[in-house]
Amino acid sequence: MVVKRKPLVAGNWKMNFNHREATHFIQKFAWLLRDAHYDYRDCEVALMPSFTSIRSVQVLVESDRLPILYGAQAVSVTAQGAFTGDVSADMLASLGCSMVIVGHSERRKYHPEDDANIVDQVRAVLAAGMTPILCVGESFEERKQGIELDFAVGQVHDVTRDLDTKQAKRLIIAYEPVWAIGTGMVATAQSAQEAASAIREDLRATFGSDVADTVRILYGGSVTSSNAASLIAEPDVDGFLVGGASLDAEELSNIVRLTAAQSRL
Ligand code: PEP
Repeated sequence: MVVKRKPLVAGNWKMNFNHREATHFIQKFAWLLRDAHYDYRDCEVALMPSFTSIRSVQVLVESDRLPILYGAQAVSVTAQGAFTGDVSADMLASLGCSMVIVGHSERRKYHPEDDANIVDQVRAVLAAGMTPILCVGESFEERKQGIELDFAVGQVHDVTRDLDTKQAKRLIIAYEPVWAIGTGMVATAQSAQEAASAIREDLRATFGSDVADTVRILYGGSVTSSNAASLIAEPDVDGFLVGGASLDAEELSNIVRLTAAQSRL
């Protein structure tokens, strides 16, 4: 039986765009989709600006009634207190954020984010009523050793094993091989499918079919409008986490439309 999940294209803007640029981007992006008679029911669209742009994005999305979701790229594990520079899940939820990227490889590399901290971020995001986009994926070294599937599945497993079924069902997982992020080297559709399928089967073994068939698994790593169609044709790839290409409104709108077209087949 083929299980249909609504695809999602999420743009990870990383540390790009101030609040004026973010607003300008969304106005252009929404106009491009409107001009193409885009139906947001075919594929969800989410944007992940910097913390400093979230309020402006909220005002624009609400005032123009845009069916665009938005969220943050990281979150504090604590609710409040003496944590200079941190932003809590409640602060994000009160700005209308519906998703938070958790465990992105750049956060794992440049910040002290280990599995324990990532589990706590997932819990904080869930407790605030938002959806964590949990990022996993192997480095070039692990791929060379041929352990890429075990590695990605292990990362998911380590973070999800203490969640209950209801919590697990609310996750989105992004399989992002580290060697593909920002390098122009994209995973083949076949290897993206293998990883997504291995992750889904591990979820099935741990939480059962309801969770496994519900959780959306995105692919991330040098996605562009030239490779999106072949990747999204795979049955376990439910959309994309897009970095570089999400900074170009036309390119992102093309990726969204290609993803939506596949979901209508
Ligand atoms: C990312 O950082 O999540 C990402 C997928 O980046 P890029 O699309 O630029 O490879």
